[in-house]
Amino acid sequence: TTSFPSDLDIASAATLQPMDEIAAQLGIGPAHLEPYGRDVAKIDLGFLDEPHDGHQAKYVVVTAVTPTPLGEGKTTTSVGLAQGLQRLGKRAVVALRQPSMGPTFGIKGGAAGGGYSQVVPMERLNMHLTGDFHAVTAAHNLLAAMVDNHLHHGNALGIDVRNITWRRVLDVNDRALRNVVIGLGAREDGVVRETGFDITAASEIMVLLTLAKSLSDLRERLGRIVIGYTTEGSSVTAEDLGAAGAMAAMLKDAIKPNLLQTLEGGPAIIHCGPFGNIATGTSSVTADLIAMQGSDYAITEAGFGADMGAERFFNVKCRVSGLKPDVAVIVVTVRALKAHSGNYVIKPGKPLPPGLLAENPTDVEAGLPNLRKHIEIVRRFGVQPVVAINAFPQDHDSEHAVIRRYCNGIGVRTAVSRHVAEGGAGARELAEVVMEAAHEPSSFEFLYPLDLPLEQKIEAIATQIYGADGIDVSPGAAKALKDYERLGFGGLPVVIAKTHLSISSDPSLKGAPRGWRMPVREVRASVGAGYVYAICGEMRTMPGLSASPNAQRIDVSADGNITGLS
Ligand code: ADP
Ligand code: MG
Repeated sequence: TTSFPSDLDIASAATLQPMDEIAAQLGIGPAHLEPYGRDVAKIDLGFLDEPHDGHQAKYVVVTAVTPTPLGEGKTTTSVGLAQGLQRLGKRAVVALRQPSMGPTFGIKGGAAGGGYSQVVPMERLNMHLTGDFHAVTAAHNLLAAMVDNHLHHGNALGIDVRNITWRRVLDVNDRALRNVVIGLGAREDGVVRETGFDITAASEIMVLLTLAKSLSDLRERLGRIVIGYTTEGSSVTAEDLGAAGAMAAMLKDAIKPNLLQTLEGGPAIIHCGPFGNIATGTSSVTADLIAMQGSDYAITEAGFGADMGAERFFNVKCRVSGLKPDVAVIVVTVRALKAHSGNYVIKPGKPLPPGLLAENPTDVEAGLPNLRKHIEIVRRFGVQPVVAINAFPQDHDSEHAVIRRYCNGIGVRTAVSRHVAEGGAGARELAEVVMEAAHEPSSFEFLYPLDLPLEQKIEAIATQIYGADGIDVSPGAAKALKDYERLGFGGLPVVIAKTHLSISSDPSLKGAPRGWRMPVREVRASVGAGYVYAICGEMRTMPGLSASPNAQRIDVSADGNITGLS
């Protein structure tokens, strides 16, 4: 109905600034800039060893209310906020995850923001970029090959073939690879066993790369990766197999963050893309450290709602980086709050439910408890919340007014942001309130100390963040937790793998559910990345394609222009 241009049209029409000028905005000179083609470069980690001028950048994380399956606009708001701050003359940089190619060819199309708040060049960003995902895939599968090679040559380490946890990865949505049998054929074709593939974004190495602070830290974390267990119950590592050195060598360029730009010529650092469900769902520590060194406002996104992404960002990522966040921007949409009224069910790939777009401040009001809960979560960590009302063309002023009035009533700064339709100019009010909030005193603290037993860490998140009455640990999970404490993994932080569509572990419960308990079905250890994760719901680590995948609409013209990305 509108003539608003597509994301790809807007991105293709952009005039890009030379990369040395983008880098110069961050104080990065030619010595630390490695061009990859014309419009993309890598940043050498040596930049972090440059003498620091003593300025104290503000650290802003962008999170959200519990989203609908459509997403509520954290990425667009992150880019829009950076553009808005730049228009106010501030040195601002946005640090984001790299999109996974699986979903690009699945349902999502491109993923680099939207409208007039995007990272460019969009086609490079969405396809291959500088090959980091391929490097992760190759390093991951090298380790898998060395596991099977070890079995073939006599299994000197005594690996229990039925207790190998290391699978293989590919960056495609391919349901046929979820469960496979390998080693079929003759004796020299290897040992027959059942295994499977995950999408590259779900690789432990992808998260490990986001949490490694240097090449030597990366090398050590790779060595600690547990691939499985012996029949006696000892863990077997990548170091035991002699694989970690070669893996680190394959990843020596992938650890360097990628530099691109916003549509308005500001710097954008794109690095890594771990899954939000079983992993941290954030971009890298190195990207954020570079952003903090090179700007006055470093803006980074944490996946899903504040219950999941921001909690992990605070408890896991900030613990590694040592950075203290000043502000958490909570993105809220009218459509999400209407969905939290419980009166609408939004399904991906299906038409929006009738009535969702009609003016209805009462339903927005009914969804406010969800927003309130996310504000409480942010405040629990001692971080200043700012509520960003991400305006959609179909919104009504009366609906925005409900959210504004509520936030004013509880003393939370808020702004309506029109960055998708108007670019940085539409994010001016948001940029101003973020600056105000960033200059308030902040008292960041973790939710739990690392020496708390694993089960109590899981319980702390369930009860104090999600609002559960308690946790119910399955016998298998309880045994694994005991084994992990015995094996020395007890001091790791935890990640809870649950649905992102509810603050509870039941995707159908909207708003701010109370009176429920969280079942802990299974626990797993990502020792190399550095956390233990508890599975509290259905978790897919290899997506499938739909009956009409986006791949059918993507093409390239004779002169190399890609069409159909979104
Ligand atoms: P998230 O990062 O929270 O998952 P995204 O920023 O990727 O969300 O946005 C989700 C989808 O909604 C994208 O397709 C994006 O282009 C679209 N979108 C986000 N904000 C707006 C807006 N203000 N107007 C129109 N579309 C939007
Ligand atoms: Mg996003």
